[in-house]
Amino acid sequence: MYKILFIGPQGSGKGTQAQLVAEKFGLPIFSTGNILRQRAQVQDELGQEIKNLIDSGILAPDELVNKIIAEKIQAAGGNGYILDGYPRNLAQAEFLATKDELTHVLEIDLPEEETVRRLGGRRTCPKCQTVYHIEYNPPKIAGICDKDGERLVVRDDETEEVLKKRLAIYHELTEPIIDFYKGKGIHHKIDGRPAIEKVFEEVMKNLE
Ligand SMILES: [Zn+2]
Repeated sequence: MYKILFIGPQGSGKGTQAQLVAEKFGLPIFSTGNILRQRAQVQDELGQEIKNLIDSGILAPDELVNKIIAEKIQAAGGNGYILDGYPRNLAQAEFLATKDELTHVLEIDLPEEETVRRLGGRRTCPKCQTVYHIEYNPPKIAGICDKDGERLVVRDDETEEVLKKRLAIYHELTEPIIDFYKGKGIHHKIDGRPAIEKVFEEVMKNLE
């Protein structure tokens, strides 16, 4: 039975890999964002508390996230699951260990320069919101939207400076988590640079 955690920086494709594994084995994916949004729709005190947090854009506190993930894990029973985006810090990982034991922690690794190339190459049309990529999905005329001729922009949260800052935070938070699971002998590091299918092959090898 699989209880898998995917870890990786934004742009590593870990979400895609999680989906492929979920389809392969018929497992549910528990991602903090989705679960919070779902739980916010339930008309009770906890639902209202979560809705307020989402509406105000505040990062949900550990205690709350722990609580709803524990609910999900219990509901999944012994059938296995995939976690994506949780635990996001060591305290959450330690909490999780008191509820259940993961079988695999798959780290999809991407060097910083590749992350910046993937995410920093995105160009967005401010008018119709179409997203292009200077290498993988360029517009017909550089810097111009195919649909409406608008000048494309780099979003404020996708500048190289912001991406590097976000990556630094990612490493600061996840390195202790990775060490924690290395100690348990269930951590596997996978190169996230190759094409999706190649990465998936590696993922599957590590699940055998
Ligand atoms: Zn446009």
